[in-house]
Amino acid sequence: MKVAIVFSFLLLPAVVLAQTKPGVDVPAMNKSADPCVDFYQYACGNWVASHPLPSDRARFGRFAELQDRNEKAELDILNAAAAPKAGRSETDRKIGDYYASCMDTAAIDKKGIAPVQAELDRIYAMHDAADVVAEVAALHRQGIGVVFRFGARPDAKDSNRTIAELGQGGLSLPDRDYYLKDDAKAVEIRQRYVAHIKNMFVLAGDTAEAAAAKAQMVLDCETAIAKVSMDRVSMRDPNKSYHPMTRQELEAMAPVFPWEDYFKATGAPAFETLNVSQPDFVKQVMEAIPALGMEVGKAYFAFHVLREAAPRLAGPFEKESFDFWQRYLAGAQEPRPREIRCAGATDSALGDLLGQEYDKTAFGPDAKAQITQLVEGLEKTMGQDIQGLPWMSADTKKAALVKLQAITNNVGYPKKWRDYSAVTVTRDDYFGNTERAGDAMYAHRIGEIGKPTDKSEWSMTTPTVNAFYQPTNNSINFPAGILQPPFFDPKRDMAVNYGAIGVVIGHEMTHGFDDQGRKYDGDGNLRDWWTAQDGAEFEKRVACVADEYSNFSPIDGVKLNGRLTLGENTADNGGMRIAYMALEDALKGKGENIDGFTPEQRLFLGFAQVWCENMAPQEARNRAMTDPHSPGRFRVNGTVQNMPEFQKAFACKASQPMVSTNACRVW
Ligand SMILES: [Zn+2]
Repeated sequence: MKVAIVFSFLLLPAVVLAQTKPGVDVPAMNKSADPCVDFYQYACGNWVASHPLPSDRARFGRFAELQDRNEKAELDILNAAAAPKAGRSETDRKIGDYYASCMDTAAIDKKGIAPVQAELDRIYAMHDAADVVAEVAALHRQGIGVVFRFGARPDAKDSNRTIAELGQGGLSLPDRDYYLKDDAKAVEIRQRYVAHIKNMFVLAGDTAEAAAAKAQMVLDCETAIAKVSMDRVSMRDPNKSYHPMTRQELEAMAPVFPWEDYFKATGAPAFETLNVSQPDFVKQVMEAIPALGMEVGKAYFAFHVLREAAPRLAGPFEKESFDFWQRYLAGAQEPRPREIRCAGATDSALGDLLGQEYDKTAFGPDAKAQITQLVEGLEKTMGQDIQGLPWMSADTKKAALVKLQAITNNVGYPKKWRDYSAVTVTRDDYFGNTERAGDAMYAHRIGEIGKPTDKSEWSMTTPTVNAFYQPTNNSINFPAGILQPPFFDPKRDMAVNYGAIGVVIGHEMTHGFDDQGRKYDGDGNLRDWWTAQDGAEFEKRVACVADEYSNFSPIDGVKLNGRLTLGENTADNGGMRIAYMALEDALKGKGENIDGFTPEQRLFLGFAQVWCENMAPQEARNRAMTDPHSPGRFRVNGTVQNMPEFQKAFACKASQPMVSTNACRVW
């Protein structure tokens, strides 16, 4: 039955292609550009020129356009839910009052620093190691990640079981390199950061002199943490972060910290073993921090409380926080409108309540059925792609197909919605609402330690414009938020749908087989299912991709890190190939021209036009250091220049820039 549906879905587009509405966004294109010289410019040039960065954004593209529409839908739901009237449903009361409390800036301003004063007092009153341990646990329970992280994660080698995990954390700037690099820009960022910390302490009631001294202490403390932190590229290797040990082994490794007291104070259920994802970090940080002394620890904890709370506190805190993090560091000129931020806050606190309402208005069963069929069809195509790989042996192909068939497809929304009955929401206490929602989330997460893994949980809410592969579940997940134009429109030309949502689906499937995903098997366990020779062939092929993207420069003087972005780039290339194969399969050589483009040209345009964007230079610099995704321009050009199919579709010549002399292919 399933096969029959997939079959008909894949055939249908070829028959109806000419009758459906066009899908290429022709006005977005710059037809004066040569697609073989700069395909991104050809596909997106007019969009980029006609959409200057809005003043409240550091980055704006097609994802953000759709996110704006989703946010408007969320706002309609929230405004209706917040309107005081008799007989509101429990859901309306909860999401409506949460949103209303966030909008009530008069009440928020009136409270000033009061919501965090008790916490700051406790921090400044610490006088011995027991106080410090209690405070670390108290902050961790509030989601404030000082010194290290502690939580629940599926055991990477036995993913049906959730275990305790301890790992590196404790920094504020986006990466350890911000503390360690010595170029002029890095030095300037640290100077501005220290000034910002000082401003925060002054707002919290310190004298300028005391605030300046504390600001330097915070930087010293975070620099000490940065020095012992694992780099981002190493963190991508799941084997480097898998170190199960008993509690006794942890104590022997880092004896200075009273772990038993800490674990008790976190409220975690009893456990015998845990994964220490970065043992070197834990060992060294426990030597480095106490050596700095109690005053440094107090300043560091206090700043983390202020930093984390600032967007939820009175106007001056919020403004200072925006001025440093968004304006200076990211390049936005003004905050997003308050109502949008409050819709976002409600989404992150009560996402599944809001998501259920969103799905009722924005995502129906028809869309779910169609996308599910498309996903199943593309999985079949990926199976054909794997079988045809010239570099992989039959044994590894067999294992890869087993993994592919085991992928769980989640479309639209999670199978089970989260329950928020433990969260008390009141209309006049925004900060308290955020704390209570956070407490419930923490209790839920930490309570999972020692239990069978709940593989139905999602890490994104349904109105989110994104998708994800979850390696320990071996699942691909497509929130309703992304299953809309420009990604998907059931009524438009299917070649464009294949290029847009089809590539997204193929991208997520390929994540199961990228440099990270390939290390997990079909059950979501870290296990090597590759022959040694195929593993070496794979590494050779991804090295080509890493070198290719390392040569791209998003702004002058900054290059992408091809190893940091390797998984995403591999997934883009794999996704594009699978979508191409699926389209060819559907067309059976019968495609017609629409808007003067062949189906293959429309496929590539559909792919490229999802990535039209503008970005502030500050944001581009930050992302080059921290974002595993390449900027849109390189996602497009980096992918198409590896494909002879693109060269053929646009009749490019061998010497042109979109025709790589060293085309990379993994999948
Ligand atoms: Zn991805």
